[in-house]
Amino acid sequence: MSDETLCTPQRLPIVQSWAEDETLYSWCCRWHRLTMNRTRSSGNALFGVPSAAKVWISPNPFGHFSAVTGTTLGHPFAVVRGRTIVGSFLALARPEDRRRVETGEIPPSFVVSAKSGIPLSLRYCPKCASRHRSSLGIALWRMSHQLPGVVVCTEHGQPLVEHIGKRQSWSLPGTDDSREIDIASGAEFVALRSVAVAARYIVESGVLDADILRARGQIVVCESYGALDVKRLDPHAVHSDWQSSALAGWCRRVQPEQVAFPEFWITDILRSRRSERNPMKWAFLLAYFQERAWSPIEGFFAHAKSMVDHQLHLWSQMESIPISVLDAFAKARNSRQAGRIIGVTGSTVRHWVRASPELAAVSRHWRLR
Ligand SMILES: [Zn+2]
Repeated sequence: MSDETLCTPQRLPIVQSWAEDETLYSWCCRWHRLTMNRTRSSGNALFGVPSAAKVWISPNPFGHFSAVTGTTLGHPFAVVRGRTIVGSFLALARPEDRRRVETGEIPPSFVVSAKSGIPLSLRYCPKCASRHRSSLGIALWRMSHQLPGVVVCTEHGQPLVEHIGKRQSWSLPGTDDSREIDIASGAEFVALRSVAVAARYIVESGVLDADILRARGQIVVCESYGALDVKRLDPHAVHSDWQSSALAGWCRRVQPEQVAFPEFWITDILRSRRSERNPMKWAFLLAYFQERAWSPIEGFFAHAKSMVDHQLHLWSQMESIPISVLDAFAKARNSRQAGRIIGVTGSTVRHWVRASPELAAVSRHWRLR
């Protein structure tokens, strides 16, 4: 067949292993350089489409890549989660979406919101790049630098450099037009380093419950303002305080077109009935909590986790899960129904199921979707 986009996948003659924490795109750039292909030929060979180099976030169609590389690079889902920024989105995705990506039912890019306001530039740290050049002979795109919201290297304490202009080719760090990300003060740097730390927590958590994060966020902000609950928060006061932060100052100066942080974005996250699943917004929110000294990032995640564990712990002290809860699990056909009977959210119920073998056993008849 002459149509190059429809050719049958053929195993690649060379499949080099991963280098450190490089991204999938970085691996492809190295492969491209090794084979000395033309850009379009590499796109065809790796993803079955000549323009694959343009889609560095989550190259598609991913199934083609798995077919041509076989099992050498690990399970396809592990590659998507650990080597593309889709991992950050998957951590916060709805459980059913995560499962559908895992089984290959939907493409990984499905969970990446098009309107997330996440800058799409490729970023690298010049010091990391020169270290890689001397140890590996080539610079890498590191996962930790591409995570949504990250603009500093936490290892070297310096701003990242971003590639600007169109990405048509498989380009390695330092080979295209680039500029250092503008960070004007020590306070901005500290705040942006917190963003990088939070972004890493998010992706490394693998699975986070957006409803629980929001519940924890409500507690942090309400306590800080002395508000009884989130309804009594003054969105104007919360927003004006955000505006005076180092983080907001940086956003205004460097990304004035930024759509991720509109007026009242913080109270919107805390009050919204729809869960906020944008990893960059969460990374900035947690960095903001840290900047205000309301809650350290690590403590925030530890508290969020303990909110889930708390109920299970209570039950273990009672030596068993109450009959009424077991009864609700038996009657319900899914986690949402069980939650409605007990009076908690469906996602809380799903957390209990994951953490308790007893509850997992009594929920086996639930429909998965
Ligand atoms: Zn570095």
